[in-house]
Amino acid sequence: MKSNNPSFDIVVVGAGIAGLYLAYELEKAGQKVLLIESSDRVGGTWLSKAYQNSIYEFGPNTLMNHSEILLRLIHELGLENELLQSELKKSKRYLYQHSRLKEVPANPAAFLFSDILSLQSKLSIFLEPFSKPKSTNYEETVYEFISRKFSPEIATNLVGPALQGIWAGDIKRLSAKAALPKLYELDQCHGSIIKGLFQNKAKAKIPLASINFKQGLEFLCHKLADKITHIKLNCKIKNINCDLNNYQIVMDDEIIEAKKIVIATKAFQAADLIKNLDADLASQLNQIYYAPIALIAFTIKKNLFKETESKLFDAFGMISAQQAHFTLGTIFASQVFPERNLEDEYLFVSFVGGCKNSQILDFQSKDLWSICLTEHKEIFDQYAIKKLDFADFSFVDSTIIPKAIPQYNLGHQEIISTVEDHLAFLDNLFLVGNYLSGVSVPDTLKRCEEIKMDIMDRARSFV
Ligand SMILES: Cc1cc2nc3c(=O)[nH]c(=O)nc-3n(C[C@H](O)[C@H](O)[C@H](O)COP(=O)(O)OP(=O)(O)OC[C@H]3O[C@@H](n4cnc5c(N)ncnc54)[C@H](O)[C@@H]3O)c2cc1C
Repeated sequence: MKSNNPSFDIVVVGAGIAGLYLAYELEKAGQKVLLIESSDRVGGTWLSKAYQNSIYEFGPNTLMNHSEILLRLIHELGLENELLQSELKKSKRYLYQHSRLKEVPANPAAFLFSDILSLQSKLSIFLEPFSKPKSTNYEETVYEFISRKFSPEIATNLVGPALQGIWAGDIKRLSAKAALPKLYELDQCHGSIIKGLFQNKAKAKIPLASINFKQGLEFLCHKLADKITHIKLNCKIKNINCDLNNYQIVMDDEIIEAKKIVIATKAFQAADLIKNLDADLASQLNQIYYAPIALIAFTIKKNLFKETESKLFDAFGMISAQQAHFTLGTIFASQVFPERNLEDEYLFVSFVGGCKNSQILDFQSKDLWSICLTEHKEIFDQYAIKKLDFADFSFVDSTIIPKAIPQYNLGHQEIISTVEDHLAFLDNLFLVGNYLSGVSVPDTLKRCEEIKMDIMDRARSFV
């Protein structure tokens, strides 16, 4: 008997970029789609905030322009004129090391002339093609992989801080194969990362750049949401059931039916939704650990810095190699794009915490602000016209994301392969999200695109 419940071809759960993208694409392909979101807004992790006539991000700060899916989307939505771009080789990045902000060279060869690495580590770059092979069947951590290929110093002082900036993770726990798949593959195919890099050096069609929008990254999510016919916010899903041909999404006040369901949430949130459908799958998803991150926005007056340092902050930001720091890195938010410049202040967004400092979860926001002040005073003092006071820094905003970034630690690929095995038995249920096949937005969109193709193939073969 046909039920009177609202019915859709596909229900997508979670209106972050993944859910929005899939809902938009599937509707465009002729499916009747409903996008369900538990909070009162779309965008998920993407959160753009205004400060005076500038904008800062409490989520991804910029995206790389190498994702064809992203570029196609921007073109299709007619957003080219809204774009901000900062060419990668023109935007400085710093490493805070040995009490100084040191510019990170834009290419591997330039490291030979920088004082970031010792002579021994510089030599290890030349000697990398002759490094010891990995013992078979042993899953290396990033620390072990980079130490074996280059040197422990490169692992600790360069790759560690860089990955801290992406994963908020610990290189002694992250799996090299899962967290650095491209470098790992180059080594597997060519026996050397350096040889592989040279042989694979394809000329990029357009210069690599960081991109954002005049109104902030979240703008893209709103533009996608505008194109989706059926979106429900503030939805609390109590249960998902499955009978012969349909899923029932049970909420407080209604039941919605769907032929297919896509769950576009974080792993532990997906686990909660599917625990009645497949408890083992839920328990696999619950094994994925997420690093906590606190984000703190603050400003400091430009005239507190020496005139000789007037170009210092014309950069993307810095990452900290100081082991004792809670600060992972700081984005120079008002300086990444000229359109975001403020008249007499610099605006920063600092990333604090991560895997190694998970005690931030117990801190109050005033404790986090105090850590941020102490560490940034230490970093900035030497460039200022006088010793900085805490009163020279102005607090703007802060937030803690208790489960921010999924960690591709040792064993992650095994978990994901078990997850995929379970999914093969759950007809018409799909998972997308950055815990599956890459943590970045371009990787997440790539997975969404694959799932879209799979869904459309099934829809066509059904007809
Ligand atoms: C601080 C930070 C900085 C980052 N910086 C970058 C960067 O610079 N570049 C980059 O490429 N990537 C970056 N990332 C990663 C990037 O943000 C993610 O890859 C991407 O946003 C993931 O999007 P998503 O849609 O899969 O998940 P999310 O953004 O987490 O969205 C999931 C959505 O599902 C909703 N939801 C959860 N449970 C339910 C439920 N039961 N019912 C309904 N809805 C539910 C949530 O409310 C949320 O809206 C960063 C991540 C963080 C946290």
